[in-house]
Amino acid sequence: MTIYNAPVEEMMFLFNHLKDNKNYNEIEKYKEINSDLVKDILDQAAKINKEIILPLAKIGDEKPCVYENGIVRSPPGYKEAYKKFIEDGWTSLSCDPKYGGQGMPKTVSTFFEEMLSSSSLSFKLYSELSIGAYNCIIHHADQKIKDKFLPKIVEGKWSGTMCLTESHCGTDLGLLKTKAIKQNDNSYKISGQKIFITSGDHDLTENIIHLVLARIPGSPSGTKGISLFLVPKFIVNNDGSTGSRNGVNTASIETKMGIKGSPTCVLNFENATGYLIGTENKGLSSMFTMMNLERIVVGIQGLGISETAYQNALAYAKERKQGKANNSKNKEADLIIKHADIRRSLMNMKSLTEGKRSLAFWVSQLIDVSLNHSDKKVKNSASDLVSLMTPVIKSFFTDIGMEITNDAIQVFGGYGYTKDQGIEQLFRDNRITPIYEGTNSVQAIDLVYRKILNNKIFEKYISNLNDEIKLCVKNKNLSIFAGKLEKYIELLMNFTSWLKEKYNTSKDDVSSACNDYLKVFGYVSLGYTWLKILRISHEKLQVNREFFEDKINTAAFYFDKILPRVQSHYISAISGSENIMKTKFN
Ligand SMILES: Cc1cc2nc3c(=O)[nH]c(=O)nc-3n(C[C@H](O)[C@H](O)[C@H](O)COP(=O)(O)OP(=O)(O)OC[C@H]3O[C@@H](n4cnc5c(N)ncnc54)[C@H](O)[C@@H]3O)c2cc1C
Repeated sequence: MTIYNAPVEEMMFLFNHLKDNKNYNEIEKYKEINSDLVKDILDQAAKINKEIILPLAKIGDEKPCVYENGIVRSPPGYKEAYKKFIEDGWTSLSCDPKYGGQGMPKTVSTFFEEMLSSSSLSFKLYSELSIGAYNCIIHHADQKIKDKFLPKIVEGKWSGTMCLTESHCGTDLGLLKTKAIKQNDNSYKISGQKIFITSGDHDLTENIIHLVLARIPGSPSGTKGISLFLVPKFIVNNDGSTGSRNGVNTASIETKMGIKGSPTCVLNFENATGYLIGTENKGLSSMFTMMNLERIVVGIQGLGISETAYQNALAYAKERKQGKANNSKNKEADLIIKHADIRRSLMNMKSLTEGKRSLAFWVSQLIDVSLNHSDKKVKNSASDLVSLMTPVIKSFFTDIGMEITNDAIQVFGGYGYTKDQGIEQLFRDNRITPIYEGTNSVQAIDLVYRKILNNKIFEKYISNLNDEIKLCVKNKNLSIFAGKLEKYIELLMNFTSWLKEKYNTSKDDVSSACNDYLKVFGYVSLGYTWLKILRISHEKLQVNREFFEDKINTAAFYFDKILPRVQSHYISAISGSENIMKTKFN
């Protein structure tokens, strides 16, 4: 079985030293969230993750969900674990106290999201979409619906889903066909089939609240005619109790390469009663509230799985003996951690994972500001940056998750390929993350066409990076790194200008460069966050020498060995698309 110890010290380092967003520190309701409280929450979270949730990963993989006699059953032990999970209040961590939540900021709940992803992504997915549904309802539903549905979702007694995909429409939601017909009592009758619905049906909660995209007859075609509906599995009575079964039935569940403990369902909606969320035909933009936050959460999944892969590879490298290391005086074989190539691989994993966590922390602060700051201008400005960073977090973190889980298998050699150690499962479980919530390629297209070419957020982003460089450039310990980052920022800016130019002359050049651009953006962003860590580490060196020296060394590795990847992505991308487009693929 895989091991996992939540990196609480790393998380507390970020919370104590990298809460650097002035606007975040001004949010009134978070002023009381102090270091002791956060440490206490993280310690408890670490305990439940290690003792209860981690073992569920292997169980779910070996004894996946089953669908029999119209019922979806979760893997053994999931029900008991979920009961404890909600009794301890973990579903309510980031929710509004008005509905029974604990009101924790995103900076804290993201740490918890990471721990859950590290322990068992399958188990996490049962509650993940509940938080997504909560976010969508709280932002877009009317008060009656909020009062009726939110408390039970927050409590974890009811779970949520996100129903977009149909067999003929995944990326292109404009094609969706599910119908919604208005009734005299202002409810709607929903009919159609949705596929690939995560936690679409299961036996962990008393009710399941589906958020469904559908089309009202007569609406405009394409994405402009899509509305959003809340469709409960069981109708909810006015007193809040659950009543009769609604017209939603599970046709089947998927057999998958990974996350086998999570049911991925085909759902048939047959005249199911649904309630409009927001206004007619504006459903997609309401659903985007859920999808955008969810995309960041999927990025965190990639981070969490990377951490587990790293911890296991490190532990194995410290116990496996093979071959002689350079300059070894041992008579017998050395531990593989002595080999420079294994060390390089471990440093790859470590520097990317710690960098991702720190970048996620920066974006979490921005999300908190965008949702809670009292000044609307500040809120909007943070919201712009969150929107810019969303596709980067989603795609870069999950793609790097593939690299790291792959590296971990390699460190284990043959034992990585066989099932016993659980390492190949991390690779298989992570493989969905670059696909769902909008494929990574489509995220890259979103970054380039919507966020970079069409507005000014990019300049705002660059000015954040330049502010950090200004703080470091005159410091003898930091100037060399600030200089390196400056050089790669310049490359990112050249790349951006190239895209703008090509947008007018060759769209294929632009489209074929989007993935490279997103990677460049990701590596430069991690460079930014590593520079901050370097600065803090030099300032605090005397406080905890061992911890901060390790950070300084890892940062230097990132600047020397990883950041130069930017160059190859850039050179490859600007070679254009001629060969790509002229190939006949006969
Ligand atoms: C395990 C699992 C869980 C899921 N959970 C949910 C869920 O809870 N709710 C839900 O609604 N859906 C869910 N999905 C569906 C998932 O979001 C879609 O599979 C995903 O968005 C891709 O859609 P698709 O599979 O139809 O692929 P397609 O859209 O057919 O894409 C196929 C390929 O074409 C590329 N492509 C598509 N359009 C473009 C374009 N314009 N430009 C360039 N390339 C393009 C894609 O990147 C991809 O590589 C889940 C899927 C899985 C497998």
